[in-house]
Amino acid sequence: MTRTTNDPAHHRHRQLGDHTWQSDAVCQSTQYNAVDPEIFFPEPDETVKIATAKALCGQCPVRRTCLDAALESSDAYGIRGGLTEEERRPLHEKIAHRLDHSRVNDTIAGRDVHLSKAERRAVVHAAFRHGVSEQRLAWLLKITEEHAQKLYRETRRALRNRDLNQAAKTPAPAEISGERLGRDDFGTAA
Ligand code: SF4
Repeated sequence: MTRTTNDPAHHRHRQLGDHTWQSDAVCQSTQYNAVDPEIFFPEPDETVKIATAKALCGQCPVRRTCLDAALESSDAYGIRGGLTEEERRPLHEKIAHRLDHSRVNDTIAGRDVHLSKAERRAVVHAAFRHGVSEQRLAWLLKITEEHAQKLYRETRRALRNRDLNQAAKTPAPAEISGERLGRDDFGTAA
């Protein structure tokens, strides 16, 4: 079984609803390794608890997945992925704008991973460009076919507008060479 580790080369995005990574968590108490769960829920001034919890997170093989899961959830309390709630707060705001192409690719390949709004838009664009059917897009994004059709219509319109804007900005050949065309440049029928 492939395990998620701190090594980015081995990091795979967690499938939504997959909690199997927690069995590798260092903070899980076992009969050989008792861990007081309270240290992961310290008050801001409980510096010893915070330092102890962070030291455990530092050795945890699923730290990155734990942090991802906490950031993807709006109600994650306590120390997660080696960061306190206060330390995670700015990352929560950033995640809404995240555009991670590996998540887009994972989704196109059929994996059910967490997507930011920007990544969902990128999935729709990539699917449209690759001729993915509306039915498949609906399945990939867990939306209705009607919604998928609407997203494709919007994408088609956005791409058409982009092409028109680019065409409008592209100077005519004579303007590129710095010449001005006079009436005679168009030739005469006579
Ligand atoms: S990173 Fe820390 S909080 Fe997360 S699973 Fe590992 S030990 Fe527990």
